Amino acid sequence: MESKVNLKEQLRVENMPTKEGYFGEYGGKFLPAALESVIGEIAEAYDRIKDDPSFKEELMYLHQHYTGRPSPVFHAKNLSDELGGAQIYLKREDLNHTGAHKINHCLGEALLAKRMGKTKLIAETGAGQHGVALATAAALLGLECDIYMGEVDIKKEYPNVVRMRILGAKVIPATHGLKTLKEAVDAAFEAYLKDPVTQFYAIGSVVGPHPFPMMVRDFQSIIGIEAKAQFREMTGKLPDNLVACVGGGSNSIGLFSAFLHDESVNIFGVEPAGTSFKTGDHAATLSFGKPGMIHGFKCYLLQDEEGQPAPVNTIASGLDYPGVGPQHSYLKDINRVNYDTINDQEAIDAFIKLARLEGIIPALESAHAVAYAMKMAAGMPKDQTILVNLSGRGDKDIDYVVERFGKEFNISE
Ligand SMILES: *Cc1c(COP(=O)(O)O)cnc(C)c1O
Repeated sequence: MESKVNLKEQLRVENMPTKEGYFGEYGGKFLPAALESVIGEIAEAYDRIKDDPSFKEELMYLHQHYTGRPSPVFHAKNLSDELGGAQIYLKREDLNHTGAHKINHCLGEALLAKRMGKTKLIAETGAGQHGVALATAAALLGLECDIYMGEVDIKKEYPNVVRMRILGAKVIPATHGLKTLKEAVDAAFEAYLKDPVTQFYAIGSVVGPHPFPMMVRDFQSIIGIEAKAQFREMTGKLPDNLVACVGGGSNSIGLFSAFLHDESVNIFGVEPAGTSFKTGDHAATLSFGKPGMIHGFKCYLLQDEEGQPAPVNTIASGLDYPGVGPQHSYLKDINRVNYDTINDQEAIDAFIKLARLEGIIPALESAHAVAYAMKMAAGMPKDQTILVNLSGRGDKDIDYVVERFGKEFNISE
């Protein structure tokens, strides 16, 4: 890869993003004036608090004693043997409390909000995973929590709605437009503007205006820091390859960020190809999008003819976003990370295979990463290694899988 010649210079990871929140040309903060100062206040507070030893200590305490970190790295030997190629290792974020990586940044954001004197967390949620993780953090830290959710999604994702309510959060329906994720974001921004003093807007991935792409990455970077040490202890080496699924991009950047300077490590981000490569059938932003603007920042974006965010589709609702984190957009342009796709069928096959060979039911999102690793492994020598971020567990997906694939895999009559 020719661009690797100048890798260190191009990455400048320690200084990334710029003070204004840019990763190359991507990122930034494009907001109405009223929101600009409110979000600016979060950036200032984060800058002030992030290196405070007592903040780091408190967050680390919660990671260890509440979430159950460090999450293990597991050598998926049965799966590797079956494929007959490279050795697949799994970073088990599915074993975290609440069942995915999202708790890592929710605890960070909730702690920051508390230090800023805020009393309420607000956020949008699509499938409800971010809402549940945030409601969990709010309950733990004694904060109120309002989750905005499209009316359509409230019906579709009812178990998560109930979870949020059990945890004491209020689920507020977005009733305009298509009544899904985009409208939920609109409603949450509107509510935030009405009361930016007591509320804190907690974005659920490495997207949105600065400082969120940086802040959420920093909170997720614990995945890569742990995994690097764990993998070294198990094998004496660095992994040859990393694989993670990319929705907004938080679990992947969490793993990747510890390895960006390690030129021997090949890095792969996996996006959902849904049912086909036609616009509207997938959510493979980095493969098929072009630079554009969404939710206050610049990134690769799937667009319709008018340049508006295009409709997206995948069996993994957590990957269902037409934009992507600005740092991923930059890492694509400098060729440091390879972005590729896995479709619905490949993901469901990997979901079943991992369950049957290793006794691990992955989230459908994570199954995209597993599927890609399986494809890669099969064509590689046995001494090569692939470290996969298993971002979440699949309990949330089993009803859907039975309904759609029950016959195919002998799990329904
Ligand atoms: C939300 C989610 C994702 C996608 O979000 P990223 O920000 O790209 O990590 C992936 N896996 C699981 C289990 C999720 O819940």
